[in-house]
Amino acid sequence: MSVLSPATSSRKTELITNYNKVLESVRNASSLNKEEVKLIAVSKYKPAGDILALYEHGVRHFGENYVQELCAKAAQLPKDICWHFIGGLQSGKCKDLAKNIPNLFAVESIDSLKKCQKLENARNSVPDAKPIGIFLQINTSNESQKSGYLLQNLEEVYETVDFIKNAKYLNLIGLMTIGSVGESLGDGDTNKEFERLVSLKAELDAKYGSNLRLSMGMSNDFEQAIKQGSTQVRVGSKIFGSRPSKA
Ligand SMILES: *Cc1c(COP(=O)(O)O)cnc(C)c1O
Repeated sequence: MSVLSPATSSRKTELITNYNKVLESVRNASSLNKEEVKLIAVSKYKPAGDILALYEHGVRHFGENYVQELCAKAAQLPKDICWHFIGGLQSGKCKDLAKNIPNLFAVESIDSLKKCQKLENARNSVPDAKPIGIFLQINTSNESQKSGYLLQNLEEVYETVDFIKNAKYLNLIGLMTIGSVGESLGDGDTNKEFERLVSLKAELDAKYGSNLRLSMGMSNDFEQAIKQGSTQVRVGSKIFGSRPSKA
């Protein structure tokens, strides 16, 4: 296991200042909302020392996009961190996630029944395993490069929900979507994709008697998402700074 190098004191100050600013914006945007909005700090590509600095400031919920990177960080960092896996998930990697990370809090990028089955089976062999929270990712923009259930294939969503309800190690928490760039940068008052996620939540809540959470909103659109009813935002660059672009 590699040794964790702590953030410098100026980096710590920067991270805490950024986090506090984002948290304040989240609170301001949600002051009229009925439910508390959770802030997930998205730490992909950022060193474990950055995460530890925020952990020491009291932050517990972090989001990561890559299975290998998450497994490495989870092994080095405190075990009461609540990890959210938010990246594109290959079926073949479900086992690694469920087995290697006892403190995996949620997988937010579930887009098939098969992945739920794989998580359930692998979690079964972890001693004292806590259930994994599941968010179903919905492709609300219908973009072919995005993953997620399509709104025209709701049968697949129902099938997955039915499986999760009977699973021992999975817990349905909510729905997740990623706003498209065009929609986030537009000057319209409502983001249509967020609106679609809100309608789907209403439909599923009516069908299942649930109160699903909505994970929507990132650095550039979290305030808009909260206005439209988001109960969880995933913020990376506004907290940790820019990331290297995907080469
Ligand atoms: C990277 C990522 C984020 C955070 O993005 P920022 O724009 O840096 O806030 C949120 N959600 C998902 C699914 C991501 O991949």
